[in-house]
Amino acid sequence: MKYSTYLIKYAEIAIKGKNRYVFEDALMHRMRLALKYVDGEFAVSKTQGRMYVDCRSEHDTEEVIRALGRVFGINWICPVVRVEKSDLETLKQDVVRYIGEEYPEGEGTFKVFARRADKSFPVRSTELNCLLGDAVLDAYPGMKVDVHKPQIELNVEVREDICIYSKQIAGPGGMPIGTNGKAMLLLSGGIDSPVAGYMIAKRGVKIDAVYFHAPPYTSERAKQKVIDLAKQVASYTGTICLHVINFTDIQLAIYEKCPHDELTIIMRRYMMRIAEHIAKENEALALITGESIGQVASQTVQSLSVTNEVCTLPVFRPLIGFDKQEIIEISEKIGTFETSILPYEDCCTIFVAKHPVTKPNLNVIKRSEEKLADCIDELVAKAIETDEVINVI
Ligand code: ATP
Ligand code: MG
Repeated sequence: MKYSTYLIKYAEIAIKGKNRYVFEDALMHRMRLALKYVDGEFAVSKTQGRMYVDCRSEHDTEEVIRALGRVFGINWICPVVRVEKSDLETLKQDVVRYIGEEYPEGEGTFKVFARRADKSFPVRSTELNCLLGDAVLDAYPGMKVDVHKPQIELNVEVREDICIYSKQIAGPGGMPIGTNGKAMLLLSGGIDSPVAGYMIAKRGVKIDAVYFHAPPYTSERAKQKVIDLAKQVASYTGTICLHVINFTDIQLAIYEKCPHDELTIIMRRYMMRIAEHIAKENEALALITGESIGQVASQTVQSLSVTNEVCTLPVFRPLIGFDKQEIIEISEKIGTFETSILPYEDCCTIFVAKHPVTKPNLNVIKRSEEKLADCIDELVAKAIETDEVINVI
């Protein structure tokens, strides 16, 4: 089937008030960016509260749908056949031909949804429903009308030309990127943080990311894995500016001077401090982590609260109430799972204690951190200097 147009349906944007156009414009912008990587020439436009992608050249339908299927803000993508507007008989033939090509088996139940936006067309919508329905029934004896639960919803919209469509493919929903500021994702090589980034980006938030590595304890392959994950998330969010920070000296200092059962929690506090610094330098208004209550010792409510204490920016933890299996399902859906489970070491896992505290006390942790007083400011400053910025597309 050759489609000339894709009708784009959106949900939440449609209920916005006066600033609705801001969201619509952002959505069109993101659609144009996504289509840049698809072979062909496309025009994105908006008329009367509807958005269209018109194809000006040969293109691969699947590729277009794949690209638009990653644009936040889109709820449904409807591939449309456009025909010229002339008279009723021609329209009947067009509709019959459409059904024949789209449903070659010639079977199934259907209902016609005609809409006459152009009132100069001489037949009213209700009449069109009947007349076009009859034409389909005459042409395909295997088809039946079902007005309650049709398998095929045959839409026929009479405008400056006529749009015929009956299929809709789900988009990701959410809000267009760029309509809700920017946040800094703490991206590790695990399953959770890429999903966390995806979920916040889905609400229209632009994402940058920070990754802490600990060479030579963590390898180049581990770093490449994080870059690959960032790339997969970027296929939804657009370019991600990934900051790679060398965390080795901080980790060694903590290992040397602090009680081993507190290593992870103290390390997490320094990660958050540095991530916040980088966020502020890059106009990010919040941090994002993949934490979920109770998943590991550093994610008990007590641990989360001690980690959170060093942050002044809001910390978004979209997975906080999710079970691991629920997170895995999303990571499979968005395509990060296979990369996440590659077995490369993470800096968190190298210096872990056998029995980490699960109910850390803030005052105790602060006292332990005092043991770092003579070196930590310099180490943090040095770590920030190692910031290697990679634009991941
Ligand atoms: P993930 O699957 O996201 O790695 P996790 O279950 O392994 O999470 P932790 O290792 O405790 O959990 O990390 C909790 C969160 O801290 C991560 O989701 C991530 O946001 C952040 N984080 C952990 N390690 C790093 C790292 N090396 N660089 C950047 N962020 C990290
Ligand atoms: Mg991890």
